[in-house]
Amino acid sequence: MTKILRADVMLTPSGEIENAELEIDDQGRIAYAGPARAESTVTHDLAGHALMPGLVNGHTHSAMTLQRGVSDDEDFMAWLEAVQRVEQGLTRDDIVTGLELAMLEMIATGTVAFADMYHWDAGLLDLVKRAGMRVLAAPAMFTADSVGFAGVSPLTGAETLDATEAMAEQFAGDEQIKIAYGPHAPYTCPPELLREIAERSQRTGIPIHIHISESVAEIEQMTEQHGTTPGLLLDTLDFFNATVHAAHCVHLTQDEIELFARKGASISHNPVSNLKLGCGIAALPDMIGADVRLALGTDSVASNNSLDLFEEIKLATVLHRGVRHDATAVSATQVLEIATRGGAAALGFTDSGALQVGNLADVIALDLDVTRATPRGSLSSHLAFAATGQDVRHVFIGGRHIYADGKHLTLDAAHIQRKAREARQRLQSSPA
Ligand SMILES: [Zn+2]
Repeated sequence: MTKILRADVMLTPSGEIENAELEIDDQGRIAYAGPARAESTVTHDLAGHALMPGLVNGHTHSAMTLQRGVSDDEDFMAWLEAVQRVEQGLTRDDIVTGLELAMLEMIATGTVAFADMYHWDAGLLDLVKRAGMRVLAAPAMFTADSVGFAGVSPLTGAETLDATEAMAEQFAGDEQIKIAYGPHAPYTCPPELLREIAERSQRTGIPIHIHISESVAEIEQMTEQHGTTPGLLLDTLDFFNATVHAAHCVHLTQDEIELFARKGASISHNPVSNLKLGCGIAALPDMIGADVRLALGTDSVASNNSLDLFEEIKLATVLHRGVRHDATAVSATQVLEIATRGGAAALGFTDSGALQVGNLADVIALDLDVTRATPRGSLSSHLAFAATGQDVRHVFIGGRHIYADGKHLTLDAAHIQRKAREARQRLQSSPA
């Protein structure tokens, strides 16, 4: 059924529209986005709200919600060991619970799509479909013969590659589900495997999601073992001839930034995680300047510890101004674009991320009747500097109303939170 939304103001590619109207057709696509029309029959009166495109989380590991606060004050490599220790005790039920818990938080804070590297199988992808979200799911792998999630699946890295391709085939053409190869990182996956994945990617058209240049320790290890930096090493493996979406890229050289731009590889900037783990600050202004394709992400809650992208938006806007002593280094508009249309494109959801006719109706409504919006500057100013995920009151994905007046319509929040507490208790008391 056609939906017609009315709101005080709306963020569109052609600017901010006051007294706005959005029409969603019965295919879940935007049929009209503009000023309110006198003849319309409004189905969703959102007076006192702002409409904007749903946010896109460019990088996370959603099931790791169960590991919130597991290692909050350790260095990167010690942190990685701590979380991988917990992962050895995970069951598939835990991953279901962790994923559901992540979706509760993502939806409630306005995220409509996410890139996710973890254990993935068809049943988990069906959960995402039922919840109503979109995902670029990358089944994580390390070496060809190691098993990534022993308590969940017996698959080795090599078998995970085949399973990834089978899932991509199964969900081909699905508007909510996209699949990527998920090699963890250049320092955990051997070069010959990375070369094979790039070759497969070019053959199958399945993109690659990977962590690159996250920590100084990684740069040191790669330089010692291969005499070069991770980005340049990958280039010698013809890695960037494939479609690559990379997380972090904190320590890219200017040459590597230009390589990413030239090859059309995208980067998810994850400032909270990079700061929390003491990894550093990525050169976002230089990436924007070089026209690199960009997304904004939270990374997992084990390194964040929340999935509220509004925190990342504000931080990404102010952080680089402070670093460069330049309040024009990054604008609110640029970061909002990265968090919506940029992320959607990086994940392959090219007709999401902007409120314009023909696009999928992935739209969120924020309450403007809150003190932090009273009074306010432009909508972009409010969204980048003052709004929080708590202001999100409604979420529509592909026109489907999945969050209404602060209530989940597709997930049972109380049940999921109870399961999550029980799972965490068991994981903490297990000898793993
Ligand atoms: Zn990550």
